[in-house]
Amino acid sequence: VTRYWCELAWLGAQRVEPGVVIEIDGERVGSLATGASIPPAGATRLDGLTIPGLANAHSHAFQRALRGRTQAGTGSFRTWRERMYRAAAAIDPDRYLALARATFAEMALAGITVVGEFHYLHHGPDGTPYEDPNAMGRAIIEAAGGAGVRITLLDACYLHGGIGVAPDRVQRRFSDGDAAAWAERVAALADGPAVRIGAAIHSVRAVDPEAAAAVASWAEERSRPLHAHVSEQPAENQACAEAYGRTPTALLAQAGALTERFSAIHATHVTAGDRDLLGGARCCVCLCPTTERDLGDGIGPARRLADAGARLSLGTDSNAIIDIFEEARAVELDERLATGVRGLHSGFELLCAATEAGYRSLGWPDGGRIASGSLADFVTVRLDGVRLAGTAPEHAIDAIVFAAAAADVRDVVTGGRFVVRDGAHVRLDVAAELQTALAAVGA
Ligand SMILES: [Zn+2]
Repeated sequence: VTRYWCELAWLGAQRVEPGVVIEIDGERVGSLATGASIPPAGATRLDGLTIPGLANAHSHAFQRALRGRTQAGTGSFRTWRERMYRAAAAIDPDRYLALARATFAEMALAGITVVGEFHYLHHGPDGTPYEDPNAMGRAIIEAAGGAGVRITLLDACYLHGGIGVAPDRVQRRFSDGDAAAWAERVAALADGPAVRIGAAIHSVRAVDPEAAAAVASWAEERSRPLHAHVSEQPAENQACAEAYGRTPTALLAQAGALTERFSAIHATHVTAGDRDLLGGARCCVCLCPTTERDLGDGIGPARRLADAGARLSLGTDSNAIIDIFEEARAVELDERLATGVRGLHSGFELLCAATEAGYRSLGWPDGGRIASGSLADFVTVRLDGVRLAGTAPEHAIDAIVFAAAAADVRDVVTGGRFVVRDGAHVRLDVAAELQTALAAVGA
């Protein structure tokens, strides 16, 4: 297909346009025209509202195996983590390829066209590297290709079991021993047409300040995205204050991590000073509200972070739910509950977080919007299903942000080509693949 006709499309303004014709040039948008009331000859029709592809800026694909198994009961973050480590123990590169491909295909069905996979499950049992030390990372990259989703592999440095604590048996699978060995391993991974390699500092618990500085300068020298879990839990802040006398954000700032290419994941328990550091450096803050809810992490100061200058993006993190619309509205709705104030984030701002900000956070500055020259990644949301029937064009942005579900995604085009058509993946039986892959890891 070289030409699409969209009944309605969001081209980045605070309103939607009727009758938009998108010409495809290679894997990019060639030209755009608005106001075509009927499809031109030869155009493929996209009924509903077409928006840029959704960016899932923070995922751990293997945690899809925990869905429905860790929600019940009063377990803390620590007990959740024990379950997560048990799931990880069953995974090898072949099983990871199958599980990640099925999980990324579920993302494609939900309108996600790029995923940031925060990857730390590097090595074999007891920490022995595989024959190819990047076997796990390559399995994840191959999985994304099979699912038709762009990927930024955020290869995480993870060295310690806690501040000053050696990694335990499971955590040895995450550790390269030191930052130099991490860098040497990551150097063997390369970008591809739909692949970017980025760096991650797992957290200030798992990476000491010297190693964090080494990872930060590796990313800086290569202009790579750099992500880190930041202040997800009060306990992390406390341990960091006791060991280093400063907050995790201040520690990362001192390590040279905070730049425009940095994304702080969660930033739930940040101080006013932290907000100024993140905003002043024009960092991205990736919010993962369905996971933060599930784990009882708390509600972060999203509005105040944005006011300080930080850009907001969204992630499904634990993949207990894969629905970026739910993540987007949760930013506003959870903050309403915390503050008693409505209207902190507009539907327009939340849609920007779900698209362009996420693409930028993952090192794809030419995606996440429908414009001439941008990557031809876009998603059509049906407006004739039970949730959105009767939506007037002037309310379409708020309607999809506050009421759409992943199941309302009808068509997904990545690089100009269909990945999902009429609600079905063009290559994979996603439910069957999930069933097989999850059974193989004992989920
Ligand atoms: Zn995470």
